[in-house]
Amino acid sequence: MRSAYVNGRYLPGARATVHIEDRGYQFSDGVYEVCEVRDSHIIDGQRHMARLRRSLAELRIPMPMSDRALGIVMRECLLRNRVRDGIIYLQITRGVARRDHAFPAPDTKPSLVVTARSLDRAANERIAVEGVAVVTVPDNRWERVDIKSISLLPNVLAKQAAREQGAKEAWFVDSSGHVTEGSSSNAWIVTIDGKVVTRPADRGILRGITRAVLLEVIKAQGLSLEERAFTPQEAYKSREAFLTSASQVVVPVVRIDGRAVGNGAPGLVATALRAKFHEHAGRS
Ligand code: PMP
Repeated sequence: MRSAYVNGRYLPGARATVHIEDRGYQFSDGVYEVCEVRDSHIIDGQRHMARLRRSLAELRIPMPMSDRALGIVMRECLLRNRVRDGIIYLQITRGVARRDHAFPAPDTKPSLVVTARSLDRAANERIAVEGVAVVTVPDNRWERVDIKSISLLPNVLAKQAAREQGAKEAWFVDSSGHVTEGSSSNAWIVTIDGKVVTRPADRGILRGITRAVLLEVIKAQGLSLEERAFTPQEAYKSREAFLTSASQVVVPVVRIDGRAVGNGAPGLVATALRAKFHEHAGRS
């Protein structure tokens, strides 16, 4: 990373640091967003800003600057890091204060960090063409995973468990035996009779921006959709499976817990949805 915005200044990556008493560092007391950057455009920036505002409001952290000013910072980070295809990462914490669990004084300024980095679009395309493996793990997260908080320890452990089993993603399974979502993505299947299924965006999952846009793509394609929970057993027997996230868009899942999904190759629906996604996504 060449450059990062940290609390009002653009700093070289190596010197971009935060205070040791930042509440993000000490308590994970903060939220974040990740936006896709494609052909130098920010994808679905407004939806990401709306979700950011909602996450902040749920945690009663004030927005440190206007959307307009934040938009300028994001664009400057893209330029300074020469990002054409990649991601923007944005993090806001409750700020720096003497360590005490309860909220600090109301005039404590939230900390804002914005970074950007390039992703290898061709490499991501190859991953999508091959498809990825996922494994299931128990969902041991708190009840407010609808808030995009930086408190990601269960997600970190789940992703590591996946990596150690040669998989790209872990799908969380709740206490009733249903898949909630991935450690950093939303989870989908396509049933044998061609219905696209994903869990309703209740409090059990993060309301993915890619998920929301994809619901529109699905409608426009005339596909039938069921917003309901599904089990790993149903997923094993489904025709297709895939995952969605801002950084990876739509990625076909070809193995779940070591079992081939469908014929073990990326499905037609997932591949078509990936190809159509950006016709529906916002760009700025
Ligand atoms: N669920 C979780 C837990 C995530 O971390 C992400 C990625 N931010 C998603 C779902 C997908 O959300 P989005 O499409 O907004 O990237």
